Amino acid sequence: MPKSLSTALKAAAQLFFLGVVGLTLYSCVQRPAAQSQATLEGLQGQPLVRVALGKYFPAEGNSAVIAVEGEYRVASSRSGGVLHHGSTLPASVAMPGRKGGLLIGAQSFSERDLRVLPAFDGSLKVGDRYYRGALRVVATDEDRLLLVNEVPMEEYIAGVLGAEMPLDYPRAALEAQAVAARTYALYEIRQAEKDGRSELWHVLDDTRSQVYAGTLRDTEKARAVVASTRGVVLLSGGRLFCTYFHSTCGGSTEAADLFFPVPHMAPLSGRPCEYCSGSRWSAWQAEISKQDLCTRLGVKDVSGLAIVEKTPGIHALKIQAGGKSWNGLDFRLAVGPDRLFSTAFDVEDRGATYLFRGRGYGHGVGLCQVGSRGMAELGYEASDILNYYYPSAEILRVY
Ligand SMILES: [Zn+2]
Repeated sequence: MPKSLSTALKAAAQLFFLGVVGLTLYSCVQRPAAQSQATLEGLQGQPLVRVALGKYFPAEGNSAVIAVEGEYRVASSRSGGVLHHGSTLPASVAMPGRKGGLLIGAQSFSERDLRVLPAFDGSLKVGDRYYRGALRVVATDEDRLLLVNEVPMEEYIAGVLGAEMPLDYPRAALEAQAVAARTYALYEIRQAEKDGRSELWHVLDDTRSQVYAGTLRDTEKARAVVASTRGVVLLSGGRLFCTYFHSTCGGSTEAADLFFPVPHMAPLSGRPCEYCSGSRWSAWQAEISKQDLCTRLGVKDVSGLAIVEKTPGIHALKIQAGGKSWNGLDFRLAVGPDRLFSTAFDVEDRGATYLFRGRGYGHGVGLCQVGSRGMAELGYEASDILNYYYPSAEILRVY
């Protein structure tokens, strides 16, 4: 190959590589590349995420259906030593053995904390879902099973993205979501370290953390989006923060500290949002009988129900009825998040019922997903979306 062509190809390959790993995201941040890198204390490369499978958390059962479609090893979590090699693990029950150990397939083990390590990525199955990485199987002191999928961060984010945002959303919205999800996960890992539980688990796979469905929606598009934002997170004053996100704010996002036990900070201080207008969740109504509300709220008399304090945005901050009061989030959860889609509502007394007229879907804090789609459709890039919903946060690659 002529040297000039070889050099040109190498240069093209380098450009392609840089594009794939993140210049698309930085292209409109307008910072020199040198400032786009950061290091986080204790972080060397992508971390492993320990995802406790919510179905087994809290650990209540003593069996689970797990399988490995291919070769696998079973190792001691304590020593790392391999205890067993297998060719395939058919749909198999793992449970605390009567003698105090674990049964995995036909194999019994005296240890109560094991790792199932598939030889082929994605060949692990728990229930009807496939997973990348390894599975930690722990028998708790109460003889219950705890299952934890241990998976590299980028694989984890590929499994979160399509579970948290429709994959037919525009690319920029998906990139913004991937960065928010990665930041959230890293923040949760730090919290788990502070809480002293990080050796066992960091996040749950459901809405108690963020939804992760293994490889269920881990499509080529999801993986491409994740690859293009690899290692990119949001920082505030050099620190990770809890990058809340939700479906539809309904017109304004809210300061996180109004609803969650976090300090006030600029990136989570709330923004007006016109980008989610016209969505299916822009306006909703729920008419609920007073009798039903009494039951759900645990009060004898719900008459006089009123919003006594609103946020600076559009959400209900404090609601009173029957001598009790709730903040908007607790009230929504008590009444039912499938009936009150958000905390942005007005309430009207209709005799035997109350009519709630609301806007938006979700808690209204942080990134508005439908608004992100709206911004992306108007031509905004992922960095614009992140700068909008997390104002003054820095967008940086940390590995
Ligand atoms: Zn919005």
